[in-house]
Amino acid sequence: MGATKQHDIVIVGAGPGGYVAAIRGAQLGFDVAVVEKEPALGGTCVRVGCIPSKAMLESSFLYAEARERFAEHGVVAEKVRLDLEAMQARRAKVVKQNTDGLAFLFKKNKITRYQGTGRLNGERQVTVEGPEIDDGSVDLVAEHVVLATGSVVATLPGVELDDEVVVSSTEALTWEQVPESLVVIGAGYIGLELGSVWARLGAKVTVLEYLDRILPGMDGETAKEALKVFRRQGIDFRLGARVEGVDVSGKGAKRRAKVRVADGDPVEAERVLVAVGRKPATAGLGLEEAGVALDERGRVKVDERFRTSAGGVYAIGDLVPGPMLAHKAEEDGVALMEMLAGQPAGVHYDLVPGVVYTEPEIATVGKTEEELNDEGVPYRKGVFPFMANGRARALGHTEGRVKILAHQDTDRILGVHVIGPRAGDLVAEAVAAMTFGASSEDVARTVHAHPTLAEVVKEAALAVDGRALHI
Ligand code: NAD
Repeated sequence: MGATKQHDIVIVGAGPGGYVAAIRGAQLGFDVAVVEKEPALGGTCVRVGCIPSKAMLESSFLYAEARERFAEHGVVAEKVRLDLEAMQARRAKVVKQNTDGLAFLFKKNKITRYQGTGRLNGERQVTVEGPEIDDGSVDLVAEHVVLATGSVVATLPGVELDDEVVVSSTEALTWEQVPESLVVIGAGYIGLELGSVWARLGAKVTVLEYLDRILPGMDGETAKEALKVFRRQGIDFRLGARVEGVDVSGKGAKRRAKVRVADGDPVEAERVLVAVGRKPATAGLGLEEAGVALDERGRVKVDERFRTSAGGVYAIGDLVPGPMLAHKAEEDGVALMEMLAGQPAGVHYDLVPGVVYTEPEIATVGKTEEELNDEGVPYRKGVFPFMANGRARALGHTEGRVKILAHQDTDRILGVHVIGPRAGDLVAEAVAAMTFGASSEDVARTVHAHPTLAEVVKEAALAVDGRALHI
């Protein structure tokens, strides 16, 4: 029999949703415990997702720059070559810095940590099991139980992940050799980011996308421009390609995959990355027994205060409806803790930015043109290209543009869509402006330092009213 421990709040899962909730909960004076099965904190995002992919994107970008762009700057770097081992070692180091940083934050905030697998077991009770737990298991009793177990990779019928030839993003981040050819299934966030990494490092990359466009859900015009840019970078795209299955043949290093596509020729490759989305990680949590209801898509049903159908049990992040993004999970976690502390709290779900960290980056917030047209909302549109921006020219990265959509009558900004250098950072200004209910005129009258990329945002705001200056 394991022991029983009491806490104010028990959080299951230490990803961006869970660990941020834990820190905020501790700040608010709760006795918080976190259950996490992995030895390292941070969840998918920190260990095998956002952070390592950004490290690999940066390294592969520098490699491509050194080979293709340094000469133009008058920097002669002869015989530039790839040391993938060093690149991977750096990736691992960046992850470790982050996971160690979280362990420090847990200590600093006096958050109790249980390393093991948590499962709901009785009212407001979580049983944790694992070899790291004394006697193999412990029962945690809490006033509030927060489920923050995130998501797992979604698969396709006929496609079996074998972690070697046919893989998810986790494995595709750690390859020790550049595959000569790579098929990516799915042109969403992961497909484009990891497709970019391996294309820059020398793989022949083919992206198979089921829809007739890339980046579904993002602004159509912006996605179209992105497709053009990626094709120019040498990535091959087949749109409208429904993958029916993958066959792996051969032995050892000679193993190859043949990806079968409905109504089309199969594509052969050394490796296949499956990036067709993720699904809530609900298995093994004891949800059914505890009376936690799921919706028709397997997501945990919650009300506007993150309450599930079981008393005292809450759910946040990728487990619940909404975009499966780390920053959205963090906001959920903070809002929930503040609500539990009796404070007014909430999240601007209409203003969750999305960023694809390719080169150029693609960033978006608010409504797309398609949504505005569908909803019959009259709007004006201001567009400004990075090509006309001095700083972008000095950087040598002039691809892309900023598009601002503002209400025809009120001028309130409804959507901002950026493709261009550092788009992910630039969109923060748009999110802040929109959070304060800004008009395009507000942004147009805001002083922007010169020369900066941010001036493209200001110029796009001026363009809404037909008075952009530098074009
Ligand atoms: P995604 O939902 O972004 O894209 C999946 C793509 O696969 C879509 O374009 C879809 O149309 C396509 N697809 C689905 N079925 C297909 C089929 N049978 N054949 C071909 N294509 C098919 O999913 P993802 O790229 O796997 O990312 C998973 C999650 O991780 C996303 O929810 C995303 O929010 C998150 N993520 C975010 C970032 C970021 O914020 N930069 C980066 C990586 C992952």
